[in-house]
Amino acid sequence: PLVLGIETSCDETGVALVRGDTLLFDAVASSMDEHARYGGIIPEVASRAHLEAMVPTIRRALGEADVDLSEVDAIAVTAGPGLVGPLTIGASAAKALSIGLGKPLYGVNHVIGHAAVNQLVDGPFPGRAMALVVSGGHSTLMLVDDVATDVTELGSTLDDAAGEAFDKVGRLLGLPYPGGPHIDRLAREGDPEAIRFPRGLTAAKDQAKHAYDFSFSGLKTAVARWVEQCVDDGREVPVADVAASFAAAVADVLTAKTIAACRAHDVDTLVIGGGFSANSQLRDMAAARCAEAGIDLRIPPLRYCTDNGAMIAALGSAVVRAGVAPSDLDIPVDSSMPMATITV
Ligand code: ATP
Ligand code: FE
Ligand code: MG
Repeated sequence: PLVLGIETSCDETGVALVRGDTLLFDAVASSMDEHARYGGIIPEVASRAHLEAMVPTIRRALGEADVDLSEVDAIAVTAGPGLVGPLTIGASAAKALSIGLGKPLYGVNHVIGHAAVNQLVDGPFPGRAMALVVSGGHSTLMLVDDVATDVTELGSTLDDAAGEAFDKVGRLLGLPYPGGPHIDRLAREGDPEAIRFPRGLTAAKDQAKHAYDFSFSGLKTAVARWVEQCVDDGREVPVADVAASFAAAVADVLTAKTIAACRAHDVDTLVIGGGFSANSQLRDMAAARCAEAGIDLRIPPLRYCTDNGAMIAALGSAVVRAGVAPSDLDIPVDSSMPMATITV
């Protein structure tokens, strides 16, 4: 089937066309430049930008893929989780297309889309796979038995997402927003063992209840305290060492828990997705530890890790092929859509 996917959960307007597991074209427009000066996403600004970008982005995807709207077999759209205003813009556009074309509509889960997009790059998952989705809004570990019908959330962050923690630490180090990529760059010049920052939820007492959950807010506070102490003592803050030690703490916890989950569930394929998978400390540590554990690590190129339409079209395509029933025309967008919900 030829599936048109629409993504609008945050600041990216993504539209893509996927046939089977083949991506025909992926068009993305972002309003990040407008948010950067506020130091965070402004939902109202994002909604307006989606509204303006929607039709041109759909036209561009169709044009570049050389596809006529009448050839589209199904429409997939992000139903959640995400910002309600932006989600509603995407859902409205998808609904209009579905009605206009008389083709089925599928409201799908954004976070599961971050895992599904991998199939466009590395091919179908070999049976069971583990997926770690890390971004500015999510840090979620999922067991994927079938990306269209059977996904189990094993754990997620109890507070800040990995990217969010990077952005907050970036702010306290005086780096531009979003701070994540700046910390990554600085960390490469620092000593990851210079400062021993805490590893959240790894203590023995946390294992029973939170074996696969994450917590980064304590780490962020520890970095803030350490930097304050430095300033109080009149010492210059060793920014590269702080960045490297902080990044190492995040990568350590993410990879240790994910690999433990792979072992516990006898899974030997790990998919990492979400915008934070750009992080080089995570990539390096995941590559080393997966090699050691005999796990096949799959991380798609960066443009498929950040929010895009291809991930939604990929999941839509899998869902259509699995014979899942289409969504109601009145798609219920859900800002906090649970991971067990693949389609609405
Ligand atoms: P989502 O709705 O999926 O949470 P998002 O817009 O919050 O979307 P993405 O765009 O997928 O997230 O990723 C952006 C996040 O990733 C930001 O927090 C950013 O700082 C972080 N990030 C991007 N590149 C890097 C990097 N190299 N190192 C660390 N963090 C990074
Ligand atoms: Fe995302
Ligand atoms: Mg983004």
